[in-house]
Amino acid sequence: MIAQKARDIAPFYAMEILEEAQILERQGIDILHLEIGEPDFDTPEAVKKSAKEAIDKGFTHYTHSLGVAHLREEISDFYKKRYNVEIVPERILISNGTSPCLFLAFAGILEFGDEVILSNPSYPCYKNIINFIGGKLSFVNVCENENFEFPIDQLKQKVNKKTKAILINSPSNPTGTILSRKNLEEIVSLGKLIVSDEIYHGLTYEGEEHSILEFTDNAIVLNGFSKLYAMTGWRLGYVICPEELIRPLQKIQQNFFISANAFVQEAGVAALKNAEQDVLNMKEIYNKRRLVMIDRLKNMGFEIKSHPNGAFYVFLNVKKYTDNSLEFAKKILHEAHVGVTPGIDFGTNGEGFLRFSYAYSIENINNAMDRLEKFFAKL
Ligand code: PMP
Repeated sequence: MIAQKARDIAPFYAMEILEEAQILERQGIDILHLEIGEPDFDTPEAVKKSAKEAIDKGFTHYTHSLGVAHLREEISDFYKKRYNVEIVPERILISNGTSPCLFLAFAGILEFGDEVILSNPSYPCYKNIINFIGGKLSFVNVCENENFEFPIDQLKQKVNKKTKAILINSPSNPTGTILSRKNLEEIVSLGKLIVSDEIYHGLTYEGEEHSILEFTDNAIVLNGFSKLYAMTGWRLGYVICPEELIRPLQKIQQNFFISANAFVQEAGVAALKNAEQDVLNMKEIYNKRRLVMIDRLKNMGFEIKSHPNGAFYVFLNVKKYTDNSLEFAKKILHEAHVGVTPGIDFGTNGEGFLRFSYAYSIENINNAMDRLEKFFAKL
């Protein structure tokens, strides 16, 4: 009865650790959570207010399948203001989060057997979505010694006639890396379509972030409101793509999702227009947490070769303790009562690493670090 595709899809281990943590919590054990990749902040007040008003005004029906015109215009202005790129609203499609946008983008471009090149490690859903659609994965290992950037010679060797796209994610989940201008230019110089997941844009603490659209129009950008505006539960994201791709994506959207939520799109306009200060406040707090976490880990004797400058993750090399990050994450959960994500979640080249999220209060981060310090001292 069960389809092969459904059998084959890999679990998301971060969720499995969380679920195991919840079992311990039900037994009365206090767990600190560094495994969760979502902002702990409340959604900005202006956004919530706008959604409430939108419901009262009757924004409770289907919208245009591409999204409401004023939100698409606002996103176009946002890309102009932030990156100085001209993106006409006709190249923008709004959907229920960046995840559906990933599905739309790959469903829109991949023939059966087409290859997508992506980094190992990378966000786990990428490989599962591409596999599900019938694309083939071609991995390039990225290493902490090279700041988790794409080694261009190895990338070149992977490019062939079947390569449909190169998928990038900067700032990155899980590594927190920001790809440099040079690396982005090198990737673009290979002449392939780039799919750029820019969902962590805005959460950059050191260095510069660039949209891929500053370098090429032969690109599909995925972005959303989940991270920057602390709106994970609202489900709002968008695709920016070359003009010829909009109509095919629109048809997939109509069939699979119809349209994004009407009042949530109104809230999205409020986020772009009225939540700038909230974003700056959250960013400042994330940065403080980041520095505390890095400092504490360094004091425990860990070397952090690639400084995590964006998103809200530290990807820590724990190879001196283990070559089985899943077992190790479970041991940490059960013995130290701290949830962490095993690096294997993000690919074979993530083995021997743990991902720590600092989307957590400084007090909780310090408490978690106290527990980890004791745990590591015993090993
Ligand atoms: N891309 C990356 C790299 C992510 O980390 C996430 C969320 N964990 C997403 C996409 C999906 O975000 P959403 O569907 O909430 O917009």
